[in-house]
Amino acid sequence: MGDYIVRAAAANTQIRAFAAVTTDLVEEARQRHGTSPVATAALGRLLTGGAMMGSMMKNATDMLTIQIKCSGPIGGLTVTADSQGNVKGYVHDPEVILPPKNGKLDVGGALGQGVMTVIKDMGLKEPYSGQTILQTGEIAEDLTYYFATSEQVPSSVGLGVLMEKNNTVRCAGGFIVQVMPFIEDEVLNKLEENIRNIQSVTSMLDNGHTPEEMLSQVLEGLDLEITDTMPARFYCNCSKERIEKAIISIGKKDIQSMIDDGEDIEVKCHFCNTAYNYTVEELKELLKKSR
Ligand SMILES: [Zn+2]
Repeated sequence: MGDYIVRAAAANTQIRAFAAVTTDLVEEARQRHGTSPVATAALGRLLTGGAMMGSMMKNATDMLTIQIKCSGPIGGLTVTADSQGNVKGYVHDPEVILPPKNGKLDVGGALGQGVMTVIKDMGLKEPYSGQTILQTGEIAEDLTYYFATSEQVPSSVGLGVLMEKNNTVRCAGGFIVQVMPFIEDEVLNKLEENIRNIQSVTSMLDNGHTPEEMLSQVLEGLDLEITDTMPARFYCNCSKERIEKAIISIGKKDIQSMIDDGEDIEVKCHFCNTAYNYTVEELKELLKKSR
């Protein structure tokens, strides 16, 4: 069973919900970036939240970016997702190591204080952008706060990444549940009661629960209806041509100094860590295109 996202409604559309299993894509991110366990957990949670938030957008070309700038040793994280289940991302310092906190990976300690920016590019003149202060740095709480303050949508976000002893990803996934403004008190009370009583996302996943089963626990007794399911994957659309544009944009002076060094250069894509090589001859061509 690969990674996928489910979209659902409950209580006669008074609630909308998303859930995902992202074990494979988080493991792929870990391998590509060589992330430490705490960095894998942080990136994995944000990739999972990003993939679900991407699936909330309507058009195939819509793009969502979540950027965290923070003072903790991880330095920052960036995740980009589309509406089709494709997601990619990176952390500034993939090698950050911290002692565990209460027996768990200290994601909040790795992030520290900071700001989260959510940018939605939906093909309009100006992309939508919302910025919030990190609440705990544990990411799920920070996304909950973002939804409440920036989008005015009360939400409950659960995200989890569990590591194997050998530091590969054992399981990853999460859910987002959002209530509509017209929600009835008794429905809201029942939802709040459910959320108080559920296990953690990592326990649910580790016990073999699918995204559908996670939602049936969160939305127990609330007439859950799964509306659709889509595969999710780590995907980067970089190419040698795209990286070339980035090199051209650094300017003639810097390209000339690379040429003067007389050696081939390697440029890595931030998002997926794929390396692209450019010979001195190719750099000379790029110099001509540069301003
Ligand atoms: Zn890439």
